[in-house]
Amino acid sequence: MPEPPGDRLPPERFTLRAPQRAEARRPPRHLADLAPDERAAALREGGHAAYRAKQLSVHYFERLVTDPEQMSDLPKAQRGRLVAEHLPTLLTPVTELVADGGRTVKSVWRLHDGALVESVLMRYPDRVTICVSSQAGCGMNCPFCATGQGGLTRNLSTAEIVEQVVAAARMLRHGRLPGGAADEREAPLRVSNVVFMGMGEALANYSRAVGAIRRLTDPTPDGLGMSARGLTMSTVGLVPAIDRLAGEGIPVTLALSLHAPDDALRDELVPVNTRWPVAQALDAAYRYYEATGRRVSIEYALIRDVNDQAWRADLLGELLVARGGRGGASWVHVNPIPLNPTPGSRWTASRPGVQEQFVQRLRARGVPTTVRDTRGREIDGACGQLAASTR
Ligand code: SAH
Repeated sequence: MPEPPGDRLPPERFTLRAPQRAEARRPPRHLADLAPDERAAALREGGHAAYRAKQLSVHYFERLVTDPEQMSDLPKAQRGRLVAEHLPTLLTPVTELVADGGRTVKSVWRLHDGALVESVLMRYPDRVTICVSSQAGCGMNCPFCATGQGGLTRNLSTAEIVEQVVAAARMLRHGRLPGGAADEREAPLRVSNVVFMGMGEALANYSRAVGAIRRLTDPTPDGLGMSARGLTMSTVGLVPAIDRLAGEGIPVTLALSLHAPDDALRDELVPVNTRWPVAQALDAAYRYYEATGRRVSIEYALIRDVNDQAWRADLLGELLVARGGRGGASWVHVNPIPLNPTPGSRWTASRPGVQEQFVQRLRARGVPTTVRDTRGREIDGACGQLAASTR
């Protein structure tokens, strides 16, 4: 029998769930997967004393150490097993690429099952930012993003996300991100900012991503003791997940990848827009601001002759100001990103004058706007270029 017309949903052009086989390839459990109050039980299960949980937490989160030799407070005979069971190696370095005079380092990691992910560490005069991956691949299928072209392989575990930050913290502690122009301040010793802008849609891997946020912000030695203010969660606009995040009580910054103020174009650029259109995504972003008091970032990759027209800048400004009520656009900050080239893409960045005009039109409406830098372009380490190809 023919199906009644109009009843069928259009085929999904994005994937919200990890493929089924992901379960079988689950990474080994790691201390960083567990909340502090779950760790003692995990130790006891393996026949160890509960207080070893605290000792291991100090080694991992405070000392950044996983070498049994360096754990002199643990009985020698048990060290190897404690580490193997609770601090297993999750990330194996494959390649490290350096750019921007040593201030940007992209790391390619191999996971236990062979999947590859990337993280990018960037040193600025006043902060050190790491861009982490939350999934191997991505199911969101945005056509201008290199990660989106390969599809989703699997979700990362909480510890696989945390490990990227710990590896960066170690690199800094050992002075391996010199950066050193003479006019820069003294080397910061810590990772100050973590942005979920590497591979993957973190909000489609919600519980693991929020677990990672908790490990990063829990005070040492339970976690890394970072300020939530230094964390940014970037999303294509999964509305229910944005609302859920607003209720977690951790005021991380939300970044919404808008890229177009109109549904016709956004349906193309960010396919999930067919489920949660522009108005709904912006409403959720505003609710997030209301709940957390954190100014929301709107990301807008400027693509030549595609989304960079003056009228789109005006429409974007209007939509943002309209939501802010008496506060105008003070709830939000627009981050135009010059499109970074990806292999095989027919698109390129906007002309400089056009970009400048786009920025000016937003500012003219009182919308705070700053163009994002393009760190790591030549090592395919900039926004949207992470494809984990080991060239
Ligand atoms: N899944 C998250 C994280 C993606 S990467 C999200 O969509 O927000 C972070 C930002 O880089 C997103 O705004 C993404 O749309 C943008 N981006 C992707 N490809 C890009 C490219 N080729 N040039 C510039 N920005 C890009």
